[in-house]
Amino acid sequence: MSDTLDDGSLLLRNARVWRRPDESVSGPQDVLLRGGRIAGIGLSAKTDGGTPEVDLAGRVTTAGFWNCHVHLTEAVWSERSRAHAPGLQSAIDDMMLSRGFVTVVDLGSLPRTTNALIQRIETGQLRGPAIVTAGIGIRPWRGIPFYMRDLVPWFARWMLPMPLTRVGARWAVTSQLRTGAGVVKLFTGSYVTPERVKPMRAAVARAAVEQAHRQGVRVFAHPSNRSGTAVALDAAVDALAHVPDDTEGTAELLAEAARRGMRMIPTLHMFASTVRSDPEYLRPIHEALSDFIRHGGKVLFGTDVGYMPERETRPEFEAMADAGMSVQDMLRALTTEPASFFADEERGAVDVGHHADLTILDTTSENVRPADLAQIYATIRGAKRIWPASFL
Ligand SMILES: [Zn+2]
Repeated sequence: MSDTLDDGSLLLRNARVWRRPDESVSGPQDVLLRGGRIAGIGLSAKTDGGTPEVDLAGRVTTAGFWNCHVHLTEAVWSERSRAHAPGLQSAIDDMMLSRGFVTVVDLGSLPRTTNALIQRIETGQLRGPAIVTAGIGIRPWRGIPFYMRDLVPWFARWMLPMPLTRVGARWAVTSQLRTGAGVVKLFTGSYVTPERVKPMRAAVARAAVEQAHRQGVRVFAHPSNRSGTAVALDAAVDALAHVPDDTEGTAELLAEAARRGMRMIPTLHMFASTVRSDPEYLRPIHEALSDFIRHGGKVLFGTDVGYMPERETRPEFEAMADAGMSVQDMLRALTTEPASFFADEERGAVDVGHHADLTILDTTSENVRPADLAQIYATIRGAKRIWPASFL
């Protein structure tokens, strides 16, 4: 995880702090941020007058949110190279910062675009979240998803990694990490047509996961259906990037995935928004998530925004509630679980010494409701206010 842009200090007055999901929300207190870290909580701080302060008037403050499933593939991201790019900043604001995301995991985009964007954020030209990217992703042999065909001209398709052999799989992983990827994405089940899923060969998936783990990175799989889930389980990927939307025959596999500690990113609203919104289609998907959780499965929050044009997060929280998740479960998926998944011990909770990555909700109630997680007042990264551009 990269370090923050700014070695800033900031004093938050009257913050109700929700330090971690299993603790209750505190009464209003002060939080002092120094050197990009959380320096003190609960003190009634006196500063030398040089520290900027903001009065949060009792608003609830949590650790910075993560969105573990985004894509930076929309046309706006290719504005990356323009010196003046107002469209780019407002897209970052609208898709990520105004939703409270301080860290995002991009599960597939063009490295040229994404690396340029990361560079402009990390050098302070743009306000933005920390971005971890999977690069362009790895597909089964001749297994380009149908929805990606239009994005990639036929003459460029040879550049997409679609390994046929174990050697090819290892090479695909190594070359993606070399071009800036920090995680690996495998399409263990690829929708080659809207009706047909092509699974990745088990030996290829296994070799890719082994190589990624040798290089110390996490692997996400796009499972789609029973065979894609079976390949992901067999290869011991670290996380499923979606609930399989064709859930038939997946119950046992998902229970086993939960027992083995494999994480799941639900992306429930994406199915409703981009496939079908009728209950016959959605009900089994929500039930598959509930079953996974019932078997001890851990959830990472993610929306698939960027593939899904809709940027609102409220519908995802509503869908998670429908699948039986409490607001504490949701905060866990947004903060402690992704930090733990990435072994990032200095993020995920509001603790002294942690990075000052914070999400401030626009509510003053101690009883936070799921919908409040979508009402963001401000987003702070490394003690720097990254959204909105300035407080009133
Ligand atoms: Zn996706």
